[in-house]
Amino acid sequence: MSLRAARIATLLRLGLVLAAALGAGLLIGQAWAVLALAALALLVWQAWRLQQLVARLESRRRLVPAGNDLWGELDRQLERGQREMRARKQRLLGMLRAYRAAAAALPDAVVVVARDHQRVLWFNEAATSLLGLRYPDDIDAPLGERLQPLPLAHWLAAGRKAEPLVDVASPVAPEVRLNLRLIPYSDELWLLVARDVSKLVRLEHMRRDFVANVSHELRTPLTVIHGYLEMLDPTERPEWAPMLGEMRRQSERMRQLVEDLLTLSRLEAQDAVVEEDVPMAAMLSTLKREADALSQQRHAISIEDGAGVDLLGSPRELHSAFSNLVSNAVRYTPAGGSIRIRFAREGDGAVLAVEDSGVGIPASHLPRLTERFYRVSTSRSRESGGTGLGLAIVKHVLGLHQGRLEIRSEVGRGSTFACHFGAARVRTREVARGAA
Ligand code: ADP
Repeated sequence: MSLRAARIATLLRLGLVLAAALGAGLLIGQAWAVLALAALALLVWQAWRLQQLVARLESRRRLVPAGNDLWGELDRQLERGQREMRARKQRLLGMLRAYRAAAAALPDAVVVVARDHQRVLWFNEAATSLLGLRYPDDIDAPLGERLQPLPLAHWLAAGRKAEPLVDVASPVAPEVRLNLRLIPYSDELWLLVARDVSKLVRLEHMRRDFVANVSHELRTPLTVIHGYLEMLDPTERPEWAPMLGEMRRQSERMRQLVEDLLTLSRLEAQDAVVEEDVPMAAMLSTLKREADALSQQRHAISIEDGAGVDLLGSPRELHSAFSNLVSNAVRYTPAGGSIRIRFAREGDGAVLAVEDSGVGIPASHLPRLTERFYRVSTSRSRESGGTGLGLAIVKHVLGLHQGRLEIRSEVGRGSTFACHFGAARVRTREVARGAA
C-alpha cells in the first residue's frame, strides 16, 4: 500500500468513527459529549500506537509491519530502512573482513598504532613471528615498550618525519634482520610495517665478502707480476720495450683497481669511522703535493684555506676521498687549465671543494656519477688511469662522516666537487699544529 492510500484509509477510518459517534450522540441527545468522548478515545488510541512503535524501535528488534493505516505504513518504511541498513552493514563487514584477512596474510608484519599514545591497536600474524607481539596481551600495549630492544623511542618521536629503519635485529631472534617503516595513514593512526630482509642482507654480505676476498687474493700475484715487470730492463731487449711499457701500464691499472675495490669493501664493512682530529693545514699541503706530482706542471694548482678549523673523523678515509677528487680534477682537465682546492666555513659546518676548468660533465650524467664503474667516457677514464670507483669511494667516506657530496659542472667550462660537513665534524684548529 502506498503512503497516499494509507493516508486516505486512515482519514476515512477517523471520519467514520467520528460520524458514528455523532450519530449515536444525536440519538441519545448528547451529540457534543459523545463526539468529544470519541475524539478522546481516538487520541488515546493514536498515542498508544505511537508508544508501541517507539517501544519496538527501542527494543532494536526486527519490525513486523502490521495494519494498513498510517502506522502500518510507518512500520513498513522503517522496516525497509532497517533492512537496507542491515544489508549495508553486512557488505561493510564483508569488506572489513576481506581487508583484515589480506593484512593478516601479508608476509610483512603490520601493526596499527594509535598516534597520540602510541599503543598497539591491531597486528597481523607476521607481527607475532617477526616482532614477537602476542594476541591478546599486546593489544593496547605501548609499542615502544613492547618492542624494547628495537631503537624505536626516537623514531616514533619523529612521527611523520621518521626515516625507515634499515637492517635492525628482530626482537624475536637477532639473526632475523628487519627493515621498519612508519606510515601515518590518518590523523589518528599509524601503520608500522616490518619486512624480513635477512635473505637480502645475507646476499649483500656474501657479495661484499666475495669482492673483498677476490680482491685480496689478486693482490699478491699482482704484486709479484708488477715487481718482476719493474725489474725487466727494456734497454736489454729494445724490441720488447713497447710491450713491456704496455704490460707495466696494465698491471698498474689492475693494482689500482684491486686497491680501490679493497678500499670500498673496507668502507662498506664500517658503520662508523674513528673520531680523530684531522689537521686540515697538513691535509691541504699533502693534496697540493699529490696534485703537483700528478699534473707534472701542466696545470695551475692553488690552495685556499679560509676555514681556519680542522675536521673530526678518519684522516685516512678523508684523505682517500679528497685525493680521489684532486686526481679526477687533474685527469679531466686538459693541460693549461686551473685547479683550485678550497677549504672554507659554511654556516656552522665546513666545505672542501675541488674546482677545475676541465672538460665538465653533461647534466644527464650527474645523478649516476657516484655509482661504481659509472663513467661518462670509458675510454677517457681508462686512458687517464681511472678505475671508475673513485667517486663511489668519495660518497661512502662522506656518508660515514654524515657529509654530502655536491657536484656542479658545465661541459667545456669545468666542474666543482664539494664535500659538505656538518657542525659536529668541525674542530677548532690548534694554531701550533696548524702552523707546523
Ligand atoms: P674514474 O676512475 O673513471 O675517474 P670516478 O668514479 O672517479 O671514476 O669518476 C666517475 C666519472 O665521473 C669519470 O669517469 C668521469 O667521467 C667523471 N668525472 C669525475 N670527476 C670529473 C671531473 N673533475 N671532471 C670531469 N669529469 C669527471
